Amino acid sequence: MISIINIPIVPTLNELDFDESSNILNSEITEINNISNGGHRSAKDILKYIIPALALNGVLDVNDPIIHLRISGDGRNVGRRLKQVMITMTILNDIQNIHKPDYHYTTVLFPGIENYELLEIMMMPFIQELDDLKNYGLKIDEIVWKFELYFSSDWKFLSICLGFNAANSNFFCPWCQISKHGQNNNQTNWKISKEIEKINEYPGHNKRPLFYMISLNNWVPDELHIMLRIWDRLWSLVISELKESNQFDDVCRKEIMQEMSRISVNFQFWKEHGADAWNHTSLMGDDKLKVLKNFNLGRILPPTRAKKIRELWNRFNQIYFNLKTKDYDVQQFQFEVEDWLELFLTPDRIIPNSNRIEKGLYSPSSITPYIHVLVCHISEFMEIHQKWGMKAFSCAPVEKKNHQQVTHFFRQTLKGGGSKHKLVIRDILEYENRSLFYLFNDNTISSKPKKLHIED
Ligand SMILES: [Zn+2]
Repeated sequence: MISIINIPIVPTLNELDFDESSNILNSEITEINNISNGGHRSAKDILKYIIPALALNGVLDVNDPIIHLRISGDGRNVGRRLKQVMITMTILNDIQNIHKPDYHYTTVLFPGIENYELLEIMMMPFIQELDDLKNYGLKIDEIVWKFELYFSSDWKFLSICLGFNAANSNFFCPWCQISKHGQNNNQTNWKISKEIEKINEYPGHNKRPLFYMISLNNWVPDELHIMLRIWDRLWSLVISELKESNQFDDVCRKEIMQEMSRISVNFQFWKEHGADAWNHTSLMGDDKLKVLKNFNLGRILPPTRAKKIRELWNRFNQIYFNLKTKDYDVQQFQFEVEDWLELFLTPDRIIPNSNRIEKGLYSPSSITPYIHVLVCHISEFMEIHQKWGMKAFSCAPVEKKNHQQVTHFFRQTLKGGGSKHKLVIRDILEYENRSLFYLFNDNTISSKPKKLHIED
């Protein structure tokens, strides 16, 4: 018989029914009359279970009892009208396993959208636990473990948890006071300058951060989304260039699809019935990287133009690789991103002794918030978190976990409608309890490692 670790699954809110059709965004959340049960697993209970095992493995050191705890969160669609939000934590010290979804432990799970007021309610017990961990540590077998806390997610989720109104705001950056209209977008000397203790004094920060106990240096942008979103911008700049010169026709679209097929990327263009605009397949991260590395731009652009954009893409690909390389030289990285931005902003040039103009690349208005973060803040984050490397803050494993939970628990359950939703949340959290047991018991580790001894 295998016993199952019993971490209680506590409904975050009891006996409140969730009306799937109501629009949470438009209602006053304080009424709390349309929020359903979420589930919560105690972070302390999970830690009490895994810390002794990690200490026994030598991953944690009882003589230096500091735990680096990373929080992440992500929303997901689990059906046409069903959404869920998942909050996870992971132990950075366990660096060997940091890229595996199973080692990101779900603490809070609820049906609903990524929204400040909802998160505040659903995460209340979790936030209290983090506050305790930060202030008092956690005592296990006479050892008081201290905690350094981190947060990592995509831009949207990070902004929400920071109480920051990023969308369409003039002041768009969570870390510095750059403004959209200040025409200073192409300067690169912006540093992390805000402090969490004073965060509500800066423009755009109109709510108290949900993780107010985490220092702003430890709110780390996710490398995966940096690549995904900057790729989106680079791709859309090429498409708009084709459109502006009236070259985005059937022949061109066919060339693009054939070239995608050549580099083994499944990609289609199509029109919705009655609509004018062309849609195209939205690509996953791996496919985006294939395009970034291998797409032959010469099939759709004149040779000199293709060569120029190809160089921009190649160098971005190299920068993304270096970003993920642990112990990569920080100054060298900063030099490379500034150089890349300069290339991105190549102005038009009059060809000497002629009236012709050689077209440059893009204008400062094409710089996105993610490009700003890449150029201005990533090297600083690399330096601050050199011990772990930027890849340790990647949200790829959290997204993978998200995907696994959806495919594992929802494909069948939701066929009968959303009525089983609550049960599914419970199922997922119970499954997580069980997997914790399997993860930490294969070395015959029990919750009391002190009693173990080696027999000859
Ligand atoms: Zn900034």
